[in-house]
Amino acid sequence: MFITAYKCLRMPLLVGLALAAFSGTSQATHSWGGYHWASTTPVNSDGYKEPFTLKLGNNLTTADWTMHLSLASTDWNSPDESFKVASTPLMTTIVTGQSKRNCSMVKGTTQVCNGTYGNNGWLGLASINITGGTHITQGTAKMNDTYFSRTTYNNPNERQHVMCQEVAHTFGLDHQSTDGSSQNTCMDYFSNTGTNAGSTLSTRPNAHDFDELNIIYAHVDSTTTVAASTATAPSAADVDITDDPHSWGTLMRQSANGRSSVYERFNRDGSRTLTHVYWTIEAATNCPSCDHRFESHEQH
Ligand SMILES: [Zn+2]
Ligand SMILES: [Zn+2]
Repeated sequence: MFITAYKCLRMPLLVGLALAAFSGTSQATHSWGGYHWASTTPVNSDGYKEPFTLKLGNNLTTADWTMHLSLASTDWNSPDESFKVASTPLMTTIVTGQSKRNCSMVKGTTQVCNGTYGNNGWLGLASINITGGTHITQGTAKMNDTYFSRTTYNNPNERQHVMCQEVAHTFGLDHQSTDGSSQNTCMDYFSNTGTNAGSTLSTRPNAHDFDELNIIYAHVDSTTTVAASTATAPSAADVDITDDPHSWGTLMRQSANGRSSVYERFNRDGSRTLTHVYWTIEAATNCPSCDHRFESHEQH
């Protein structure tokens, strides 16, 4: 398969597009704004980038979440044979968590966390810090046990779906669909809840995710933003997303059904922090077009 080289374009800023609806159908491309980790590994004659490795810091507090992270890491490293994907550019390896507090970012890595983040309407959160327009320098993925401890969401398939998706947002992947249909990828909004709680649909990546990664990464950067094998430096604190949703910045876009939002924040060091929010069914249904940060999310 021929892959066209993707150039490191500076993406135009999307200003004032709050509440613009996503397309509900599977799209030809689903990169997240062209964001990607800079990497100097070569591209071979078939157009595939030689793999580089991203560290996933395991700050998870339960064996169950650790198992879900492990499965997600393995799935993203090894495309199913049926996908007929020649290779994948981004390999993951799980390392000891390095977040100092509250899932703070650590340069060159994705830190993965769980916690009882409260009755705030979100199941999962993925943030990336961007410099130079498109290069990811650090990321975090958080799972909210306030909801995952409730009957509706507390099942292995829903947990796997959200873990697989939040981690992959930090690779630079967007959703394939946000309308609730299953494209059988964790990058969709099929809900493994209720009568579908036992379904393993949409708990793993599909072939299109790997095709997309190969497109996003089919170029050689002059620098690298993934951490080398040893020490990593903690990030400047002011790029971190905190439990306060106001720290997410401005709402840039939201799906028509209200389940998926992207926020953007400009930081004092010149970088941007972008955050994908995976809202609960309840938060989305209550008012699909609202900025769910400003609603009360009472316990059901
Ligand atoms: Zn690049
Ligand atoms: Zn998402």
